[in-house]
Amino acid sequence: MKITHIEHIGIAVKSIEEQLPYYEGVLGLKCYNIETVEDQKVKTAFFMVGQTKIELLEPTGEESTIAKFIEKRGEGIHHIAYATENVNGALKELESKEVRLIDRESRAGAEGLRIAFLHPKSTGGVLTELCEHPE
Ligand code: ZN
Repeated sequence: MKITHIEHIGIAVKSIEEQLPYYEGVLGLKCYNIETVEDQKVKTAFFMVGQTKIELLEPTGEESTIAKFIEKRGEGIHHIAYATENVNGALKELESKEVRLIDRESRAGAEGLRIAFLHPKSTGGVLTELCEHPE
């Protein structure tokens, strides 16, 4: 598998709106997209930093994995996402190397990406996402 760059860093927040003054006002980044991903029960906000994005993740319900994460560990870095050309191919390869997968096949993520998560037990404690841009 070939990783081309860090696609985004996911950060769990209680409220995107409350964090905008920091990302826009202090860091001077521009939020270019806010989008809700229903099946993941999250609202996402994106900022571009070079070719990497910062993705803020706000839970839209108590059953959201982001709500559970914040409850357990507080707000902060939630996952790192690597861009790769073929997520399903990468998953097969990782499985053959006995990496624990959360998703055995890619699924739809925010911004039209195909995504899949790897289990932190196999990645040194870092929840890891693979992303593929549609052609
Ligand atoms: Zn992500």
